[in-house]
Amino acid sequence: MLAGNWKMHTTSAEATTLIEGIATAARAAKDREVVVGPPFTLLETAKRAIGDAPISLAAQHLHWEPKGAFTGEVSGEMLRDIGCSHVIIGHSERRQFFGETDATVSQRIGAALRVGLHAIVCVGESLEQRENNQTLAVIDTQIRGGLHGLDAAAFASLTVAYEPVWAIGTGKVATTEQAEDVHAAIRKQLGTLVGGDVAETVRILYGGSVKPDNVDALMAQPNIDGALVGGASLDPKAFSRIIEFSN
Ligand code: PEP
Repeated sequence: MLAGNWKMHTTSAEATTLIEGIATAARAAKDREVVVGPPFTLLETAKRAIGDAPISLAAQHLHWEPKGAFTGEVSGEMLRDIGCSHVIIGHSERRQFFGETDATVSQRIGAALRVGLHAIVCVGESLEQRENNQTLAVIDTQIRGGLHGLDAAAFASLTVAYEPVWAIGTGKVATTEQAEDVHAAIRKQLGTLVGGDVAETVRILYGGSVKPDNVDALMAQPNIDGALVGGASLDPKAFSRIIEFSN
């Protein structure tokens, strides 16, 4: 899976141009799933621009209630209604700036799965946590806190994205070894939650300054099953090259 997180970027004209610019690469990408995550306001525009191209539409966030007095929030039902198939949950920017916790991540995952949305669940450590050798403990807490209580069927509708916070938007990419080590540990943790057979089938994406010049090496790692891409997903040429990675 190659998923673009557009964050709070793009106008409607830019969104259309961007999708038109990656459609050729997406059509050629027979063995990979391409996902774009525009802001809420552009989901409908993006859906129209996608047309029949094999590009899935993701929202960047959802509320766990189906409807109600929650000013400013958007529900899973609303996302399905507008044509989303995927939703990003627990991005580090939500955790850092908007009070997202493992408990609210868990509630959002439940809400997404209830309406048939595929959840892309983000985990990752800060620089301080990495320097204090807490990476695996932090990831373990996030995985257990967000994914506890889910059965094997739920894991079929779920992708994990490992995004070291220090590598997001900084140009500092984790080395392939650093990324692969954490991905392997995540797969092991998933195995303890849901069993090794199911854990083998869960895709684990890497995110954090993925670019055309580092994507091939990352994707060659045995436990890296795709990428969640911020900055480079806003450039159709760069994201097309990421979609076309070779390993
Ligand atoms: C992200 O926002 O999920 C991300 C990985 O951003 P960037 O690729 O810009 O580091």
